[in-house]
Amino acid sequence: MLQIKNVSKQYEELKVLDQINLNIESNQTTVIIGPSGSGKTTLLRCMNLLAVPDSGEIDLNGTSLIFDPKAPIQRKKVIDFRKKTGMVFQGFNLFSHRTVIENIMEGPVTVLKKKKQEAREEGILLLQKVGLEEKANQYPRQLSGGQQQRVAIARALAMKPEVLLFDEPTSALDPELEIEVLEMIKTLVQEQYTIVIVTHKMAFAKEISDHIIFLEQGKVVKQGSYSELYHSGNERISKFLTTLQ
Ligand code: ATP
Repeated sequence: MLQIKNVSKQYEELKVLDQINLNIESNQTTVIIGPSGSGKTTLLRCMNLLAVPDSGEIDLNGTSLIFDPKAPIQRKKVIDFRKKTGMVFQGFNLFSHRTVIENIMEGPVTVLKKKKQEAREEGILLLQKVGLEEKANQYPRQLSGGQQQRVAIARALAMKPEVLLFDEPTSALDPELEIEVLEMIKTLVQEQYTIVIVTHKMAFAKEISDHIIFLEQGKVVKQGSYSELYHSGNERISKFLTTLQ
């Protein structure tokens, strides 16, 4: 389980996350929704320490980090924590000068210290999983956006993360390329990975979520299943769930 306890984050005067408390259950899919600027991406980035909370605690399956501006977290602890999480970004963020397989091998070889041969073999299996093994030796620019995002998913899986974080994974894609990425994520949902996903795609959220968190102005306003949120009596949230796609 990933536990977020009293986590706050501020950028200068702007309080972006305000005393967030959440339990992200293992083997479930948690979807974070909310209006633009409500802090969704910042919350996700805090879950792998790309953004470091100002205060509070994050505990991932028993590994706990306590945030205190007077006692910054040691770099090694940040790196160790980050190894346990896999992030898939809006803009894919692949290394453009490396081939597809090299992109996937990078983390296992440099961070997990795996042998290159082993990392390559595992990488090929992951490329099979995302349906792109024939692209192993191509460069990201030779792939469509949807294919690049599937490589990014394979790259995240290569680290065998305890939680997979997706930040609006299809927002940079044309609608015809979006579907292949959504289908890939659905497969991972069915395989019961622990997934946290920020998305504006409400139909998709409805389909894949076990749990939805509605964030507004850096606070958790409501959480529960899609149906619980829809029937929570909060008309604004019900409307939000059905109007945005
Ligand atoms: P969207 O749906 O538009 O992507 P969001 O809910 O993901 O928005 P965040 O990206 O987390 O929201 O941003 C929340 C607020 O924090 C915004 O006002 C944003 O401008 C601000 N913010 C985010 N990152 C930074 C940063 N690195 N420095 C300063 N301000 C930031």
